[in-house]
Amino acid sequence: MKGKDSDRVKRAVEVAKQAHEGQTRKTGEPYIVHPLAVKKILEEWGMDEDTIIAGILHDTIEDTDLTLDDIKKEFGDSVAFLVDGVTKLSTARDGMRDIDTYLPATRDNFLRLMIALGDDIRVLIIKLADRLHNLRTLSALPPDKQKKIAKETLEIFAPLADRLNMGLLRVEMADLAFKYVNPKRFDELEKLIKKYNKSAEKSLQNTEDEVSRALKKEKIKFKISGRVKSVYSLHKKLAKHHQNMGEIYDLTALRIIVDDVTTCYLTLGIIHSLYTPMNGRIKDYIAMPKQNGYQSLHTTVITKDKHIVEFQIRTKEMHEYAERGLAASFYYNEQKLTENYKQGKIEHLPTNLLWITELQMTAAKLREGKKVDLKKLKLNLFADKIFVYTPKGDIIDLPTGALPLDFAYRLHSEIGDHVVGVLINGKMSNLNKKLEHGDVVEILTSKNQTPKQSWLEKIITPHARQKLRRALKLSDEPDPTIHKKKRKKST
Ligand code: MN
Repeated sequence: MKGKDSDRVKRAVEVAKQAHEGQTRKTGEPYIVHPLAVKKILEEWGMDEDTIIAGILHDTIEDTDLTLDDIKKEFGDSVAFLVDGVTKLSTARDGMRDIDTYLPATRDNFLRLMIALGDDIRVLIIKLADRLHNLRTLSALPPDKQKKIAKETLEIFAPLADRLNMGLLRVEMADLAFKYVNPKRFDELEKLIKKYNKSAEKSLQNTEDEVSRALKKEKIKFKISGRVKSVYSLHKKLAKHHQNMGEIYDLTALRIIVDDVTTCYLTLGIIHSLYTPMNGRIKDYIAMPKQNGYQSLHTTVITKDKHIVEFQIRTKEMHEYAERGLAASFYYNEQKLTENYKQGKIEHLPTNLLWITELQMTAAKLREGKKVDLKKLKLNLFADKIFVYTPKGDIIDLPTGALPLDFAYRLHSEIGDHVVGVLINGKMSNLNKKLEHGDVVEILTSKNQTPKQSWLEKIITPHARQKLRRALKLSDEPDPTIHKKKRKKST
């Protein structure tokens, strides 16, 4: 694949070089460095030739004299279509960057984003590659832009990568962005992970050796390796578990890749015969894949030297899919998918990505000028999350079912503690009203207000609950670091 560009690809590079001649990036490099980096990323993801060519040309319509017609003539309809989609998407995103000043435009742009996306999911894949390279070179931008792009990445692009099960991309994007959004926290957690891994190193090696011996004895072919937890996912997990490190069981994980599904279960059995599995920590994502299609067996065990280790067991295909997601499906079904896209058919997408079909059908309706329920559409994209806005247009993401007090405490405990009322979409509302996707929420406060015990029933997020309990001077909830077997799963 690499180093063996087809004539079409070579030609695209020539065209892009000429078009961007004389332009430079904020880093000072010639502009062409960027499209070439996007090309490389798309190649690594195993994308088809049209997508790679469109990646090389993705900034030409917007930033150079090249026209869509030029591209159509030289590279065909499919490439032109993709470049056009990416251009539309970035116009939509430009609007999104100005979220602070003009809210209705945000919604409108989101709609355009959906329409552009609905045409061909490869548009989004090119956009993700574009964003990844921009993040890798984010240090060249002024600090306020860095923060905005990083925040938008955590709120929109990383969740999208997750929805497409592109695990490697999600991790890289989220960590790159988080470093800019909260540098102090990033350093802190990165150090913590390093320290923990160092202290667990020897024990982990012993466990790996022990498991390897047991698997070899059973004549199982396998690959085993350690996987390091990403900084951002640790940050998110800690937030969910009241900052309690004792609740994090997957800081160290060993990943075992075997040939087939039967061997996955056999391997799980062997591990459980060696170590004591922790109650409630066995997860069969093979029989019941995650919503994004992720498959694996997970188990957390206590090793002989009393360390807690998570095992992830999966086949090669599952592994590929977990790391590259939709891009991997393209790689495996390239011909089929590409052909179907050309013909406007989409039924060959893997079943776990059927939400894309739904998205495309909705987009088609929008293009015909029919009314659609946009709220429903957005919910599908971000599964269990809602996005609501502050009156200034900041986007706040909350779990589905969140209430006004969850929102208030998310903004600041000073706001949460003094709530007297809430305006939802400009109308007076009450504290029992569930927030909905796209709501504009304004919290009314008074200095004289004090937190009420009854508020505990008007809160669903652990974060808000903890803040409120603290304000009420209640003792913290039962120490979750004690792993009682009787303790029910809280989520
Ligand atoms: Mn670009």
